Amino acid sequence: MQSPTTDSTFSQKLLNWYHQNGRKDLPWQQQKTPYRVWVSEIMLQQTQVKTVIPFYQRFMQRFPDVIALANAPIDDVLHLWTGLGYYARARNLHKAAQTLRDLNAGVFPETLEGMVALSGIGRSTAGAVLSIANGKHVSILDGNVKRVLTRYFGIHGWPGSKAIEQQLWEYADDLTPAKDTGLYTQAIMDLGATLCTRSKPNCDACPVQTTCLAFAQGTQAELPTKKPKKTTPVRTTVMLLPVWRDQVLVYKRPSSGIWGGLFGLYEADTLQDAESKAQSLALGDIQIEQLAQFRHTFSHFHLDIKPLLMHLKKPPTLRVEEQETLWYDLNSPPKVGLAAPTIKLFSTLRKNL
Ligand code: SF4
Repeated sequence: MQSPTTDSTFSQKLLNWYHQNGRKDLPWQQQKTPYRVWVSEIMLQQTQVKTVIPFYQRFMQRFPDVIALANAPIDDVLHLWTGLGYYARARNLHKAAQTLRDLNAGVFPETLEGMVALSGIGRSTAGAVLSIANGKHVSILDGNVKRVLTRYFGIHGWPGSKAIEQQLWEYADDLTPAKDTGLYTQAIMDLGATLCTRSKPNCDACPVQTTCLAFAQGTQAELPTKKPKKTTPVRTTVMLLPVWRDQVLVYKRPSSGIWGGLFGLYEADTLQDAESKAQSLALGDIQIEQLAQFRHTFSHFHLDIKPLLMHLKKPPTLRVEEQETLWYDLNSPPKVGLAAPTIKLFSTLRKNL
């Protein structure tokens, strides 16, 4: 086998392959403006292409440019993000759009430093926007590219660690060509997404197979090295579902923290606390029904949720607290963002009410 190469043969092979086999009809590959590329990059960070497409199209329809996004209420943005998860991404997108509107008349910076100064934009996202939309000579290192490079160069060690990440950036910089940088960026992302996939990579169709170390050594399944395992902590919570007719009481969560800015259910630590909470909300006489417990998993902990249905016997005379509250009509849903477990519980309720 030949050794892995950092000269231009790597990018040339990749570009030839991309011209013949790469995906070129994704919605964000049309009219490649910094805004459109940026939104797609943020949506794709933790979500697969096929899930992202309809969200992206709705988002672009409602917010066709950065000024439209900046001027929209955050509730509208979160509403269109509902179902995509990782809501900090949406809040940062909105915040960065407002910064661009207020400080730069809605124009994106054309330097790496300018881009990474915006909320939620890291070096790789900045590189993707600058290379794809502006043709700048900057590299990227997203999850797909990390996978390709760790295998191609046979790098062992968790790519999230500082030392390995540094090494990967150096390779990424060496391989990224000065010409056709934007196409190369799309090509290497595409290779990772379609051939050099997490499980069962299709090495037979890979344009750089003859110089790939993982292929030569049969180590594709071991690379990239997994994150060292830590046991994931488990937390529990009781979620209150006060129901009057087909409406459920929700409140707007604080803008920072889990599900920040989304509407969610009131919570309590224990069943007894839940009853006191119901009293403080002046729900009056209620009939309580316990629903099946379920687990929602975050990147750093599991949350075991005990849902408590509270049927009101009389119309609510809600004592309005400091937070914004809303009787959410299940038959005619208002346009607000909802947390994932709330969506799940509402869909169960719709079947049973
Ligand atoms: S040969 Fe296989 S493991 Fe190596 S880069 Fe290509 S797809 Fe990935």
